[in-house]
Amino acid sequence: MKKVLILGGGFAGVDAAGYLRKANYDVTLVSDRDYFYIYPTSIWVPTREVDFSDVCVDLKELQKAHGFNLVVDGVSKIEAKENRVTLQSGKVLDDYDYLIVALGAHKMKHPGIENTLSICAAPEQSIAIADALDKLVAKGSGKIAFGFGGNPKDTSAVRGGPGFELMFNVHNMLKKKGIRQNFELNFFAPMPQPGARMGTQALSMMDKMFAKQELNKHFGKKIKRFEEDGVVFEDESKLESDFTMFIPAGAGHEVIINSDLPTNEAGFVSINDYCEVTIDGEISNVYAIGDTAALEGPDWRAKQGHVAEVMAKNSAFNIQERDKNSATRKGYQEHLNILCVMDTGDGAGFVYRDDKKAFMIPMPILGHMMKKGWGWYCRNSKLGKIPRIPGM
Ligand SMILES: Cc1cc2nc3c(=O)[nH]c(=O)nc-3n(C[C@H](O)[C@H](O)[C@H](O)COP(=O)(O)OP(=O)(O)OC[C@H]3O[C@@H](n4cnc5c(N)ncnc54)[C@H](O)[C@@H]3O)c2cc1C
Repeated sequence: MKKVLILGGGFAGVDAAGYLRKANYDVTLVSDRDYFYIYPTSIWVPTREVDFSDVCVDLKELQKAHGFNLVVDGVSKIEAKENRVTLQSGKVLDDYDYLIVALGAHKMKHPGIENTLSICAAPEQSIAIADALDKLVAKGSGKIAFGFGGNPKDTSAVRGGPGFELMFNVHNMLKKKGIRQNFELNFFAPMPQPGARMGTQALSMMDKMFAKQELNKHFGKKIKRFEEDGVVFEDESKLESDFTMFIPAGAGHEVIINSDLPTNEAGFVSINDYCEVTIDGEISNVYAIGDTAALEGPDWRAKQGHVAEVMAKNSAFNIQERDKNSATRKGYQEHLNILCVMDTGDGAGFVYRDDKKAFMIPMPILGHMMKKGWGWYCRNSKLGKIPRIPGM
């Protein structure tokens, strides 16, 4: 039985492990967390609509469902040419035929970032955001800033959607408590049109929502630094804030940057369409999938969970074909699209973008329920309790 070592227990790593176990590979998955985190539904942790545990799936349960070996430990070093991975505990893993790197991304570092919290960073930050919001609610009034930043070296690593979702949810939470009028909600981003990659129709719908819900925009100004009481822009103007939620753009994972894996300028692992990594001019036994990999494709391409899942499925397929000495391969690029249900707290917008079309369909009330339903589907399908729906 051939052995596959998978680094990372997120959307990419967990799916790759499941598909390879089904194909009868001996799979070991390493994760520095003992749970799989359903990031898309974590947007409701800060408003206490769901508990933190509702968006976590115990990796031991996933291990039981799929039968992979699980190592909960941090990866500290990858030496791909030596076929060797070192863990934070000092343990060395060097007995594998294939290595799948699915470590996700690290974040851009901005001065004063410690004055902010992010919904897209370490999962525990969602609880810290909830605590910060509770304090402001108890005070009864305040100014809250939400924003995201860019990565000029790789625009696919920019993530703004959850920032909008969280702000709409906070708006609704404050409205329900009858104190919305006492709060100033601001959104900031360095781009003149944040969210532009969702298409022009989505942008104009978002504009209308901003106006209707009295959400202030601060777009097109580069961020200089964060302070305890606000955001300072390039022109030294300051957006005052009692609490700032900021999503830095993704950047290459430190372990990858310090490894012998080839990367793009931003530090994401360079791959071909089949998620294979070329080392010293040859296709190696290493695959990189999910947010860790450098996506190639149209300008609007984005690192998303469903892309990570396609990459996982394809890598498992491509490994099997390789072992059969077949030249058949499956690529991820034809599956690149933007697909999300953008939650607004009391509904949602279904956002879709590919090379041919871009649209956003408003789904009042139903959209919110659908996203909740997807969270249930995600947990139970990953645990093998219900069948996977193709493309979901
Ligand atoms: C708030 C939020 C909302 C989102 N909403 C959507 C959405 O609606 N639709 C969509 O398609 N996408 C969405 N995304 C994007 C999606 O969640 C990511 O694209 C997806 O999580 C990428 O999966 P991944 O496995 O590559 O990385 P991750 O999910 O980040 O997983 C990385 C894994 O590697 C582990 N790891 C990291 N470093 C180490 C180390 N040194 N040693 C060992 N293990 C390590 C981590 O613990 C984790 O298990 C959202 C993201 C966020 C943050």
